[in-house]
Amino acid sequence: MSIARFWRETPRRYNLGGSKCTNCSTVYFPPRAVCPECTHHRQSIEKMVPFQLSGDGEVLSFTVVHDPAQGFEMQVPYVVALVETVEGPILTGQVVDVDPPEVRIGLQVHATFRKLREEGKAGVIHYGYKFAPTEEPSGPSPPRGSPAPIPAEPPSAQPRAPA
Ligand SMILES: [Zn+2]
Repeated sequence: MSIARFWRETPRRYNLGGSKCTNCSTVYFPPRAVCPECTHHRQSIEKMVPFQLSGDGEVLSFTVVHDPAQGFEMQVPYVVALVETVEGPILTGQVVDVDPPEVRIGLQVHATFRKLREEGKAGVIHYGYKFAPTEEPSGPSPPRGSPAPIPAEPPSAQPRAPA
């Protein structure tokens, strides 16, 4: 991608500004002018509105990269994940602020605006979104889905005396 094109697209990438079809409520990122879900009915024409993604999502799948792309040499190993946003669109991005072994499918993440890479001595810096966990990777709290503790009350099986 050329630098000019990158910067032209940067505000959109930074803001996670997508579009939403007001006919079927499908959200798109990057934004689309028409809704493929509705196109065959011609129902999405002039039904697309700008939509701001929250940046919240969860890891759908991921890979740990040990063989860095040019410009990423200082960061290996790093994690690249497919993140399913709460609004629906699936984004690809690096997962940061977590050790690669602690990344797992279902990890709750939030998109943050970070430096992506630096190009050579000219110091051209690309920015974009990365994903950081919004939950503690480990800790004393029980894992989600564990049953709530049962109140330690005696069973109320005592027969009542007739009034
Ligand atoms: Zn639609």
